[in-house]
Amino acid sequence: MPAEPSTIVVPPERVRIARDLPPRIERSYVLYWMIAARRLQGNFALDRAVQWACDLTKPLVIFEPLRAGYPWASDRLHKFVLEGMAENRRRAADAQVVYYPYVEPRHGEARGQLEAFAKDAAVVVTDDYPAFFLPRMVAAAAERLDVRMEAVDGNGLYPMRATSQVFVTAYSLRRHLQRELPRYLDDSPSLAPLAERSLPSATQLPTEITQRWPAATDVQLSASRDMLAALPIDHSVGPAAFTGGSAAAEHALERFLDQRLDRYADERNIPDEDVASGLSPYLHFGHLGVHQVFRAVAERETWDRSRLPAKGNGSREGWWGMSAAAEGFLDELITWREVGFNFCAHREDYDRYESLPEWAKASLAKHAGDPRAFSYSLETFEQARTHDELWNAAQRQLVRDGRLHNYLRMLWGKKILEWSESPQSALATMIELNNKYAVDGRDPNSYTGIFWVLGRYDRPWAPERPIFGVIRYMSSDNTRRKVSVKDYLRRYAAHQERQSQLFANE
Ligand SMILES: Cc1cc2nc3c(=O)[nH]c(=O)nc-3n(C[C@H](O)[C@H](O)[C@H](O)COP(=O)(O)OP(=O)(O)OC[C@H]3O[C@@H](n4cnc5c(N)ncnc54)[C@H](O)[C@@H]3O)c2cc1C
Repeated sequence: MPAEPSTIVVPPERVRIARDLPPRIERSYVLYWMIAARRLQGNFALDRAVQWACDLTKPLVIFEPLRAGYPWASDRLHKFVLEGMAENRRRAADAQVVYYPYVEPRHGEARGQLEAFAKDAAVVVTDDYPAFFLPRMVAAAAERLDVRMEAVDGNGLYPMRATSQVFVTAYSLRRHLQRELPRYLDDSPSLAPLAERSLPSATQLPTEITQRWPAATDVQLSASRDMLAALPIDHSVGPAAFTGGSAAAEHALERFLDQRLDRYADERNIPDEDVASGLSPYLHFGHLGVHQVFRAVAERETWDRSRLPAKGNGSREGWWGMSAAAEGFLDELITWREVGFNFCAHREDYDRYESLPEWAKASLAKHAGDPRAFSYSLETFEQARTHDELWNAAQRQLVRDGRLHNYLRMLWGKKILEWSESPQSALATMIELNNKYAVDGRDPNSYTGIFWVLGRYDRPWAPERPIFGVIRYMSSDNTRRKVSVKDYLRRYAAHQERQSQLFANE
């Protein structure tokens, strides 16, 4: 039995063999264990699973679980993921597959579940995601399974394992991508993989699975208040101010391209304008893939690769031969997003203080004993009770809405560094608050942003200052002078209640 499907639909650089065994053709189906790219469109892992199913003439089973016990599990994160699962179920309804969503009702209930699914699987395909608990979970599962298991990287336009080089500046990655990315631009995952291929008839799952771990019901996938209340997760972090799922993601993308992209280059940093895409939560949970976003931008710009300049020079302007607005957006979406995937894929210490550049650690150490005019505990930060009105408003946006404007996110981090007793405790505070409240948290981008505050991807800046040393400095006063925040301060004032409809489906 070949250890590769007959047709290469997924570039080999994207396929990591987690368990190197031949397919078990005597078994009943191909299993896609969907854990990060939670979507049925534009998904290389799904393409690979479909290809295996066609080659082996086996039905395809898509298993999308939501466990209870992961760090920072809350009503906010669960609701967002459940909305995505409900959408996936709708999209799979007419397809020739078994789509099996599962919500773990109690800690430990799902133990043994993957092995049970894999027992009848000829091949297991899963997502290759480089951060949070996922790499450990996949490695542990691979050791236990007696079947071929492949982890597929659908994270970025550039496959994570196409290089082993770790890029320490955005500039160096951009230069590299300008040289290397063109050869990957034609590799795009299918937008309708379940409709395009004729799959073998769907199968029945063994009753030992369906009885012990029943598929999520409509009530569970409705993510209602009562349903969430019954789960062993943090109920103090309420639902976000936006809806999860691929349909909501595609709608957000369309709205952004129609209404805001033109203003992106000039107004992205202005909190009152809020012209950014809002796509990061969808990208994080895989409700939308970067290829789909890139394709939509290229279509809007009526772009094709003949407009690529012959040679890039590492600069973001003129990289693609698109409008300045589109180039600015793509630089965030590609360079800044993928520099984090590159780091996480190749550095196990991506979330540890020691991973900072030497110059940054040395400068922070030199100033570790500097007196702090303000020194706040995690609780004071969390409750937005600092002396600074703008910082408190930013923290309230994070807590109430589950997101934080990019420019204020930078300021938010820099002030945590300034008002913590040490840079190490600033790091711990940023990780805790970002990952607990931001729907897009726990992502390679989270660590890019948080560690950028402390010097990663940056350079020394003069003048040398107390506490910061030569780490780049930001101040609320400067921010207020530079960008308009009046409406923002009003919206996130202490007495304002959130106006969005939290449980729109009730
Ligand atoms: C302290 C701090 C913490 C951060 N934590 C996160 C986080 O948990 N999750 C997260 O996705 N981003 C994080 N960022 C990066 C950035 O703030 C967000 O990606 C961006 O604000 C998301 O909003 P958007 O989707 O509207 O972005 P847009 O401006 O519309 O950009 C499009 C996409 O590009 C990527 N992107 C944009 N800016 C950055 C950036 N600076 N670094 C890396 N990727 C970027 C994101 O995937 C984003 O969705 C953090 C930044 C800082 C300074």
